Amino acid sequence: MVATSMDQLVSLCKRRGFIFQNADIYGGMQGLYDYGPLGVELKNNLKAAWWRSMVYERDDVEGLDSAILTNRKVLHYSGHEDTFSDPMVDCKKCKGRFRADQIDGKCPVCGSTDLTEPRPFNLMFKTQVGPVENDENIAYLRPETAQAIFTQFKNVVDSTSRKLPFGIAQIGKSFRNEITPRNFIYRVREFEQAELEFFVQPGTDSAWHEKWKEDRIQWWLNQGLKMENIHIYKTPDDDLAHYAKACYDIEYRFPHGMEELEGIANRRDYDLGNHTKNQSEFNLEAHCHENKESTTKLAIQDENGKWVIPFVIEPSMGIDRGVLAVLTEAYTEEDLGDGNSRIVLKLKKHLAPIKVAIIPLKKNNEQIMRKCHELKQNLMKLGIGRVALENTGNIGKAYRRHDEVGTPLCLTVDFETIEQQPESVTIRDRDTMSQIRVNTADLATYLKNYFL
Ligand code: ATP
Repeated sequence: MVATSMDQLVSLCKRRGFIFQNADIYGGMQGLYDYGPLGVELKNNLKAAWWRSMVYERDDVEGLDSAILTNRKVLHYSGHEDTFSDPMVDCKKCKGRFRADQIDGKCPVCGSTDLTEPRPFNLMFKTQVGPVENDENIAYLRPETAQAIFTQFKNVVDSTSRKLPFGIAQIGKSFRNEITPRNFIYRVREFEQAELEFFVQPGTDSAWHEKWKEDRIQWWLNQGLKMENIHIYKTPDDDLAHYAKACYDIEYRFPHGMEELEGIANRRDYDLGNHTKNQSEFNLEAHCHENKESTTKLAIQDENGKWVIPFVIEPSMGIDRGVLAVLTEAYTEEDLGDGNSRIVLKLKKHLAPIKVAIIPLKKNNEQIMRKCHELKQNLMKLGIGRVALENTGNIGKAYRRHDEVGTPLCLTVDFETIEQQPESVTIRDRDTMSQIRVNTADLATYLKNYFL
C-alpha cells in the first residue's frame, strides 16, 4: 500500500528527520520547509540522478550554475515583471487573500461573500542590491532558473563551440510568493527546480518535444514512480501561454490528487527572441517584447551557415515535488502476517539516503564496536554513498528505523564476526528481510555489485 494521506508522509518526514517546517520553534513560516539529515541526502541523490541523465549520459548538454539574485532587466524582458502574476481576491471581512481561480465566490476562511474584484498579484520577491533604495537598484529573487540559461546562451555557445541541437541544464533555487502555499512541499515559496533548455533548429521542434516527453517519463519510471500513477496532460491549444506552441504536464498521483510534477513546453523562439539584440534581423515567430537594451545577438549559425534564433524545448521539474512523489510511491505499510506490521520506504537504492547501516549486535562490546568502526572506514571508501554506523545496540529497533528511512542493506556485526574465521557479517535486505552471511573479505565486491 503506498501513502494514501499526506499526514502519513508529514509524520514520517518529521519523525525520521527528512523534512521539517521552517522556523518551527517560532510557530513555523508558511510555505517554507527545511530538509533534515536524511532529507538532504534524498534530495541530493535525486538531483544527482537528474544531472547524471541530463548531462553526463548525453553528449549534447552542458551545465550551468547561475546567480539567484536577478537583474531587473532580465525579468523585465522575459515578461515576468508584467505577467508573472495570479489574479487575487481579498476578503473584506477577514482580510484573507486568495487565488481567484481557487475559490467560488466565497471566502474559504470565514465564508463571507464580501470579496474584492480579482486583481493581479506579482509572484516575484523583490529586493534591492547595494545600500541605496531606488528604482535602479531593484533586483528579484529568480522565479525560475531558466532565464540565466537564456542570457548566458552566447557565452556558453562561444566557450563550448556547440552546434544545434544542444541543451543547457541547471539545478537551483527559485522563489515565488505563492498566495496559498499548501500540500506540504508541493507548493512552497522557496523551492528547487531542475530545468533543461534544449535548443533546436526551428522546424525540428515538435519532434524534439515528443522525444523529450518520452525521455522524461522514462526518467521518472527509473526513479521508482509507477506508470499507473502518472498522467500526461496536454494543454489544450486555447489554454496555452501566448509564447508556447505546445505543452505537456507530467502529472503524478500525489496524496492530495493528480497534479503537475514537471512541465515540458515548446517555447518556440520566445525567450532568446526577447533577450536578443537586433530583434528585427530575425524572423521571430513568437510575439516578443521589444528590446533596445540587449548588447548581444542570441543567435547561432545553423548547418547552412545562416544565423538563427533556435526554438527551445523546456523540460522543467520541481525537485521538491520530485521528493514528494518518490516518497509517496515508496511509502509502504506491510502486514507481516504475525499480527505485526512495518512501515518500509521502498526507495530505489540510488535514492536511499543511507546505503548501508552497520549495526553492532551489542553496543558495549569493545571488540564488536572496533570491528564496526573499521568496516565503516573501509566501506565509506567504496564511493557507494552514505554508510552509517548505528550505535543504539538494539537490533530490532535499528532494523525498524532503517526500514522506515529506506536503507537497502543492514550489515550486522555479531559474536560470530569476531570469534570465527573466516570473518563474516550478516546482510539483511530491506524489502525481503532475508539475511545472508558474507565474508568480510568479499564485502567490497558484494556492495559494489549491488550499488554501482
Ligand atoms: P503550478 O501550475 O503548479 O503553479 P507552474 O506551471 O507555474 O506550476 P512552472 O512555472 O512550469 O510551474 O515550473 C516548473 C516546475 O517547477 C513545476 O512543474 C513544479 O514542479 C515546480 N514548481 C513551480 N512552482 C512551484 C512551487 N510553488 N513549489 C514547488 N514547486 C514548484
